[in-house]
Amino acid sequence: MAKEIFAIFGNPVSHSKSPLMHNLAFTGFDYEACYTRYLLEDGHTLKDTFFNLGLKGVNVTVPHKEAAFHACDVLDPFAQKIGVVNTIVEREGKLYGYNTDAPGFLKAISEFTDVKTVLFLGAGGTAQSTSSILRDEGYDVTLLNRSAGRLEKYKADGFKTYTFETFVPKKYDLVINMTSAGLEDEHLPCPKEILENVVPKAKACVDVIYGKETAFLKLCQSYGKPTKDGSDMLLYQGIIAFEHFTNNAYTFDEIKCYMQGAFDFN
Ligand code: NDP
Repeated sequence: MAKEIFAIFGNPVSHSKSPLMHNLAFTGFDYEACYTRYLLEDGHTLKDTFFNLGLKGVNVTVPHKEAAFHACDVLDPFAQKIGVVNTIVEREGKLYGYNTDAPGFLKAISEFTDVKTVLFLGAGGTAQSTSSILRDEGYDVTLLNRSAGRLEKYKADGFKTYTFETFVPKKYDLVINMTSAGLEDEHLPCPKEILENVVPKAKACVDVIYGKETAFLKLCQSYGKPTKDGSDMLLYQGIIAFEHFTNNAYTFDEIKCYMQGAFDFN
């Protein structure tokens, strides 16, 4: 079999762990493939770039997940529903699109049992796919965001939405930071007074930011809450993408064995 080439498309893309994760798994399985990174500046060129580079599949990260959706010929039903694609596989000249962020996230929070109500802090692109899958799975999702504008589409979609000014605190089983607050700073995702109201009543708290103890997670820990960062979400979306890349040749747990080695590196 000719060696298949995979890549991650994004801008920026130099920080991505995906090449390490996928190459560890390809090597582990002796699978004839390699995975690289590609700085894609213009999302409109995604499809041409994919074919010009002779790729078999890609992961797509910020800011091209919507462009990836438009580049695909065939869409998985969930990707079709949310309009966001982060994994593409070429089969017989056609591009097949999937979203693996959302199922990866769902699996990452599955360790928190007896959870019904979820408060999302943030309403950006990541919240879009994850709120949809959580609702499909029966969770009751409320979104709290700094700006009102981003909440419009969620409101239209039937979600309960609040800005910092309109928020009415109640009990939420799980409180999740879906913002980029804390990624490169020590900011909290919303005013501290709001967190002081919802965190003590929560069963657990999650941050989608990974590899860092954010100000949000530190505050949640100060209340003795179980917490987790976004590392498992990152790992699980990668495993599910690998399943698509290899047409389900391996099980989730077999892939996990190799891929989780990427988290031993800093
Ligand atoms: P977007 O740019 O689409 O959305 C950003 C969101 O964060 C908006 O709701 C924005 O609110 C809010 N926000 C940004 N800064 C602040 C702040 N200082 N205070 C309050 N709210 C703020 O980002 P994404 O949805 O793509 O990414 C969100 C996070 O998810 C990032 O930290 C990213 O690293 C992480 N992520 C993790 C993954 C994983 O595998 N673990 C996968 C993908 C993303 P407003 O509307 O007011 O601007």
